[in-house]
Amino acid sequence: MNRVLLLSGGLDSTAVAAMVRPEHCVHVDYGQIPAEAELRAAAQVAVDLGLPFTSLAVPAGQVGAGLMSAEAADGLPVDVSPEWWPFRNQLLITLAAAWAVQRGFEVVIIGTVASDGARHADGTRDFLTRIDDLLAVQEGHLRVEAPAAGMSSAELITTSGVTDAVLGWTHSCHRANFPCGACPGCVKRQEVLQQLDRLR
Ligand SMILES: [Zn+2]
Repeated sequence: MNRVLLLSGGLDSTAVAAMVRPEHCVHVDYGQIPAEAELRAAAQVAVDLGLPFTSLAVPAGQVGAGLMSAEAADGLPVDVSPEWWPFRNQLLITLAAAWAVQRGFEVVIIGTVASDGARHADGTRDFLTRIDDLLAVQEGHLRVEAPAAGMSSAELITTSGVTDAVLGWTHSCHRANFPCGACPGCVKRQEVLQQLDRLR
């Protein structure tokens, strides 16, 4: 199976890369504030894991929102998480699939973990099932897989066998190229690393 993984350079997608060893990894700079640090992390992770890597730059900052956006507008739905970027996973899967369908790939993999669904609708099983169906009915009949959707980040990292050296390259901060230590991405990273310490 010829699979391309969306590799953000964060803990989860990095562990998925180590676990499934996809045939290719793609990082997307869609205009998010930490794009530079993410790209540096993702590229180094791919090198360390020996996986082919491509970076795409598709500026979408004008439609962004939340902590990861420099151009957020007022008037967001009130019930969204502070880092919510409208329809981000739909956008990223679409961009990766558009790249992949021209290059013989059959599957787009996303590093969604179980807790993502509590923060964003695009992290739920329902979303993943529907976007898989949506790609399957279109040209190329690509599929979407989320092999860690039933796992916590700590379970995923443990199961994946990813090394601390590889994890050390990852970037989790939503709002800066250097970890702010306080955003949901940084807080989640600290919680996951503490859980891993307890597991080891
Ligand atoms: Zn942060």
